[in-house]
Amino acid sequence: MKTESGLGIFRGRAATIKAWKTIRDLRPDIPYDEIVLTFDVDGAPDEVIQYTVDLVREHGARATFFATHASPLLRDLAESRDLEVGIHPNYFSSTDFERQVDELMACYPRATSIRGHGLYISTAIQALYAAKGITHCVDAILPYHPGLRPVWRFTRGGLILVPYFWEDGHALWYLDPPEYHLDPAAFPTGLKVCNFHPVLVFTNTSDYRLYEQRIRPDTKDVAALRALRGERGAATMLRSLLSGLTKSPR
Ligand SMILES: [Zn+2]
Repeated sequence: MKTESGLGIFRGRAATIKAWKTIRDLRPDIPYDEIVLTFDVDGAPDEVIQYTVDLVREHGARATFFATHASPLLRDLAESRDLEVGIHPNYFSSTDFERQVDELMACYPRATSIRGHGLYISTAIQALYAAKGITHCVDAILPYHPGLRPVWRFTRGGLILVPYFWEDGHALWYLDPPEYHLDPAAFPTGLKVCNFHPVLVFTNTSDYRLYEQRIRPDTKDVAALRALRGERGAATMLRSLLSGLTKSPR
């Protein structure tokens, strides 16, 4: 289903042009007014992830990568200061929630942020996260809502829910027409977590059929992905967003 509302409805509002925080930096009930970049890795090979990492670092931004698998690159990033590595379990492949969380935590023992693939969530899963020492859960997309802020999930604390504001797939395939140029100065006031997928950035396609039939089924063949690269898509969106941000102090 397509909608006609997008970021255009906020044009002319106050500018917020920093992406200096990662998800783990966020505290509950603080009225943030900035962008936080996140990336769902979704099984992408390191070369594909590296393409996005380079873009983010070239522009002096910070970001959180949600890991789906053991990756030498992501293990290195987990030790860095500018980038955070959280985890992104796929409960559609198995509903043994604890085992999946444990396996990813074994790869990334410092991970404290999580988003379930396909936003699969429940009260029991969120209680499991809190018990495992996960502090930030980023599973609720509220597209284009102004005034978003992190909140406590449970009355005694233990898990912070971070709603997110924008996602590449949603912007590409639910808005008509898509907004390829993202001007962060036109975003509304509030916390604006913007989520991209490195494979969509790498292939930069706006063709949903191509994505469903040739990209999503096999993200491992990097040469084939490169050959499918389109002229405008998630990379166009990410580059424009990054270009409008103020570089963070290193
Ligand atoms: Zn995913």
